[in-house]
Amino acid sequence: MSYIPPMPPFAGICTFARAALQPTPVAADVAILGVPYDSSTSNRSGTRMGPRALREQSLLLWGYNNAQQVAPFSALKVVDAGDVAVIPVDVMATHHAIEAHAAGWLNAGVKLITLGGDHSISLPVLRQHAAKHGPLAVLHFDAHPDTWDSEYSGHRYSHGTPFIRAIEESLIDPAAYIQLGIRGPTSGPQDYVDSLNLGTRMITIDEFRQRPMADVIQEIRDRLGSRPLYVTFDIDCVDPAFAPGTGTPEVGGFTSYEALQLVRGLAGLNFVGFDLVEVSPPYDPTAITAILGANLVFEFLSLLARNKLASGGT
Ligand code: MN
Ligand code: MN
Repeated sequence: MSYIPPMPPFAGICTFARAALQPTPVAADVAILGVPYDSSTSNRSGTRMGPRALREQSLLLWGYNNAQQVAPFSALKVVDAGDVAVIPVDVMATHHAIEAHAAGWLNAGVKLITLGGDHSISLPVLRQHAAKHGPLAVLHFDAHPDTWDSEYSGHRYSHGTPFIRAIEESLIDPAAYIQLGIRGPTSGPQDYVDSLNLGTRMITIDEFRQRPMADVIQEIRDRLGSRPLYVTFDIDCVDPAFAPGTGTPEVGGFTSYEALQLVRGLAGLNFVGFDLVEVSPPYDPTAITAILGANLVFEFLSLLARNKLASGGT
């Protein structure tokens, strides 16, 4: 008579996978931090609703990851850090607020998985990770290089510019920076040339299609090595047939299975942080994009859990 049944996925108050809500830093393995900011999008917006949608779909994650053979919520202490109080009319003030949150958690020794929001939010998060670890290795999943000098002439902070700013600020070591899934029309050939001239390794979707996936994964592992690695995942690297809920969709991308397998192929690398950005619920009527996003976060957590268990953590 004292049996309390488990809460069904559709019921109750929503945090990420029902992790404890913890808005201020505490000792933990991982904090999930929402950044509901989309004022730096160049096309259709809506990613301000992303963290909420990802949390909602995370309730469908049962505890065990069969592909990675780990139960991340058992192996790790995971908390939901809530959302940054973004200022939708002020990108610089929002970046400051993001940095303050990130610094608090990183200084407490907690790893961050940040949920966007548009891709501009990765820059302030990268600043705080680089402050802790030095110039980072970065694996950047995206249809777009996001290394334009500005979008809308003269505006240097948008979702199309975070990685040129990060290289300029020496947050990223370009020799250990890989862009994966790049495709789609640009204004001219110079867009990609400008990115390559920064020293990036750009793996276009065409190159990916022409090589065995295991070969691509091996190259990624060889290039990133054992260095502190930040993984940033723009959901628009996935084909809009699988992930339509995003602001700047590009046809001809990864399947959702390929995206999962690419992330799983990173097992054992020296992860310091992750983000999952550009999920735009207004363009996601069946929630298929948020479901994929929540599952990708589950894979990130599983990678961290495996590293903890491999290092003797309990
Ligand atoms: Mn992006
Ligand atoms: Mn993109």
